Amino acid sequence: MPVDPVCKTEINEDSARTTTGQTMHGANEVDPTAGTRSFYNGEWYYFCSLGCRTKFLAAPNTYIES
Ligand SMILES: [Zn+2]
Repeated sequence: MPVDPVCKTEINEDSARTTTGQTMHGANEVDPTAGTRSFYNGEWYYFCSLGCRTKFLAAPNTYIES
């Protein structure tokens, strides 16, 4: 299972991908309370919430272990 790089919570990949509907432009919408993800530097990163994703995107190098 992917791990949230910010808070180290294990993320259920399926729930992070579950779509709740589509926007009026046809893009898939997800429920951010069920987890979310972001594509960064060639990889998908999974997060438990939008808060963690926001922290990650503000300073990704803080959270990525090389
Ligand atoms: Zn988190």
